[in-house]
Amino acid sequence: MAKYIFVTGGVVSSLGKGIVAASIGVLLKSRGLKVTMQKFDPYINVDPGLMSPLQHGEVFVTKDGAETDLDLGHYERFIDENLTKYSSVSSGRVYKAVIDNERQGRYMGKTVQVIPHITDEIKRLLKRAATNTKADVVIVEVGGTVGDIESLPFLEAIRQARREFGEHNTFYVHATLVPFLKAAGEIKTKPTQHSVKELKSLGISPDMLVLRSEEPIEQENIEKISLFTDINPEAIFQSYDVPIVYEIMLNLQKQKIDDLILNHFQIENLKPANLSKWEGLIKHIKLTKEKVKIAIIGKYVSLQDAYISVIESLKHAGWAEHRLIDITWIDSDKTSKEQIHAKLKDVDGILIPGGFGQRGIDGKIWALEYGRVNKVPTLGICFGMQLAAIEFAKNVLKLEGVCSDEFEACNKDNNIIRKNYNNRFKLGEYVTNFKEDSKIREIYGQSQTRERHRHRFEFNHKYIEAFENNGMKITGYNRQIKAVDVLELVDHPWYIHVQYHPEYISRPLKPHPLFVSFVKASVENQKQKD
Ligand code: GLN
Repeated sequence: MAKYIFVTGGVVSSLGKGIVAASIGVLLKSRGLKVTMQKFDPYINVDPGLMSPLQHGEVFVTKDGAETDLDLGHYERFIDENLTKYSSVSSGRVYKAVIDNERQGRYMGKTVQVIPHITDEIKRLLKRAATNTKADVVIVEVGGTVGDIESLPFLEAIRQARREFGEHNTFYVHATLVPFLKAAGEIKTKPTQHSVKELKSLGISPDMLVLRSEEPIEQENIEKISLFTDINPEAIFQSYDVPIVYEIMLNLQKQKIDDLILNHFQIENLKPANLSKWEGLIKHIKLTKEKVKIAIIGKYVSLQDAYISVIESLKHAGWAEHRLIDITWIDSDKTSKEQIHAKLKDVDGILIPGGFGQRGIDGKIWALEYGRVNKVPTLGICFGMQLAAIEFAKNVLKLEGVCSDEFEACNKDNNIIRKNYNNRFKLGEYVTNFKEDSKIREIYGQSQTRERHRHRFEFNHKYIEAFENNGMKITGYNRQIKAVDVLELVDHPWYIHVQYHPEYISRPLKPHPLFVSFVKASVENQKQKD
């Protein structure tokens, strides 16, 4: 039977309880356990696939092709495990499953209710997360804040989980904010007291508190919180602000958070956690001072979370190349051609991320043209690659009216980007085979890769020959389903576009080779300018 750690949050949202949960995951994995993670999201959308990135930030795609909450990206970057479609569970998904069952008569005429039907479905998904990955430990983050109406069924389900799975197979962590009041010159423990009270009123007594604060909290205050919440001081942990999020796991390790959890689970004789690689990385980041300037052109730039995995992947690559990433954000929908070109004069590399729909494409095409003509390292991802193809067809091949089937009134004779041949939304991991003697193959150092996709449209084979004859090579290809995955310009220091999303698999300790190569080329470009 798997062990479950449930992480709830109190007082305010955006506490960073996901980071706390993931840090616990790193520690337990390092002790030799197989860890997986799961996120409960109270919203009614079945998944975030159709939500605007401006509402919700990036949609993270798992290896098995689920469109999930961006928190899963953080989990994967921390625990370095591939998560699954069972790792992201929204209220909408739970209700949909129950309603579908009801329509199929599976409840034998019973009245369908939150308890037990909704809570049973949640518990079923809890178990699936474990069986599907064969994990020893499932760490479950309950989205929202205790006291929200929306998260009640999830809290009720995790309450029942202890009865059903057993005391020593379940562990409740409650993360709360301990604010510092400047005027009073002291921290306040009352919100934590109330939050624990609220949680207890729902039948959950936390086994551990993790206090989020700006500064370390003094023992006296820990004792006070202990007295009011009935939680032993030894089970009260601190996670104060740190400059680099990965330091949180080190601070929790120092406090021996993993020992307390393992004691509760009655798991003995595990090797101690070894976080020396993380320690090394953090030290290295702190010593990194030089910067490289990368422009990101998109229409969701007002919410940077919309590009969170791209940003993180750039950072990982930057650390590998001894550079901090200085991002110039350009709104592709609100910036003129002159303004875009003026901004791009100042940058060392250009990145066109994924996107959807016709609005704002001109800005991206102008940026791609600038990068191509001025030999600035340019990386296009997914939609970025599709627009690079359109730009090349327009400005180099001089083809008029070239378009994507995604755009209104795209003429079938000009659809250089067309619907997938089986007209499906391509989601999750697929193989890409690289051509001999290509830059992409050299970058990866291997003849193929497996990367995650999320797109409906792709490069139209009709144009392969014209592209190749004019120096834009198709160097990555999925042989099985005959899909063009990589375009690269021969006569250019670094102009590479990929149909897949490399950003979903870059990790702090395993930076993605494509991002590393892109950042390296951008650093070269910077040196040449100086
Ligand atoms: N809108 C494009 C498609 O569906 C690209 C999607 C993306 O960039 N993720 O094919």
